[in-house]
Amino acid sequence: MATKECPSCAMEIDKKEQACPICGYEFPPQKSSLIWVALLMLILFSYPLIRLVLSLF
Ligand SMILES: [Zn+2]
Repeated sequence: MATKECPSCAMEIDKKEQACPICGYEFPPQKSSLIWVALLMLILFSYPLIRLVLSLF
């Protein structure tokens, strides 16, 4: 099981926990989901460009 350390009480807790079950410290939202949203946006915006470039040949 992957764990992370609570910065408030220094306890090892489940990595999937959004808040510390011991002291109630709330962890900031994961940045990985933001990266996926950014990637999706990049694909959506680049797709018409790719189609345009392909249509030129
Ligand atoms: Zn804690």
